[in-house]
Amino acid sequence: MLSEQEISGIQTRLVETREDIADAAKKAGRDPKDVTLIAVSKFHPVEALGAAYAAGQRHFGENYIQEALDKQDQLSDLPITWHFIGKLQSNKAKFIPGRFSMVHTIDSGKLAHTLHKRIIAAEAPVQDVLIEVNLGRETQKAGIEEADLSQLAEELMTLDSLRVRGLMLLPPFTLTAEQRRPLFSRLRELRDMLETRLGQKLPVLSMGMTDDFHEAIAEGASIVRIGTRIFGPRPTKL
Ligand SMILES: *Cc1c(COP(=O)(O)O)cnc(C)c1O
Repeated sequence: MLSEQEISGIQTRLVETREDIADAAKKAGRDPKDVTLIAVSKFHPVEALGAAYAAGQRHFGENYIQEALDKQDQLSDLPITWHFIGKLQSNKAKFIPGRFSMVHTIDSGKLAHTLHKRIIAAEAPVQDVLIEVNLGRETQKAGIEEADLSQLAEELMTLDSLRVRGLMLLPPFTLTAEQRRPLFSRLRELRDMLETRLGQKLPVLSMGMTDDFHEAIAEGASIVRIGTRIFGPRPTKL
């Protein structure tokens, strides 16, 4: 159970976060309406999501399939827009169809083909997806390498159950916000390049978290994914 104080803390920080986002957008000469806030709720109990919902939050992001499905079932009365933002293993793709408005983490042809088959089999609607790009990371495996991005994007265009909407970035945690800024700007360049190449608009740039959303918004983020700033530190267990 969350205390009243914890609930009002979440609601206060949510309001402050929205104000910060609007300030960052204005400073960048952008319309605050062009930046969507996803509240990242992994490891936080459904009551925490309910508190944010009551304060007007509608987009929520989850990282772990089972946890996400459990929360969706518990909150099925609420018209929440769910985003899957965690690493997606091919063997978990069967849980996706019809459950998430956007999957942010497509990073291989294999995963894309598996998800495509699962959507067809489930007769689920077309799934909006983002391609996760690996920028600035030598060792971590999540995200497609820049060199392989065009090929993956072209492959996705052939899968009619998936609709590519843009790119997603999870920068190395070791970098400061200022050091991440060139990566944000690189993601935008890659998006522009792909739009030309595919002859299709890719309006979404999903980048920016608690520590770096100002920089991400300055570089064109259309979605920021913020957890700690709203919900506080993550409990290690639900
Ligand atoms: C956990 C997580 C976030 C939120 O991070 P905070 O620093 O808590 O804002 C955003 N994006 C992804 C992919 C995450 O896993």
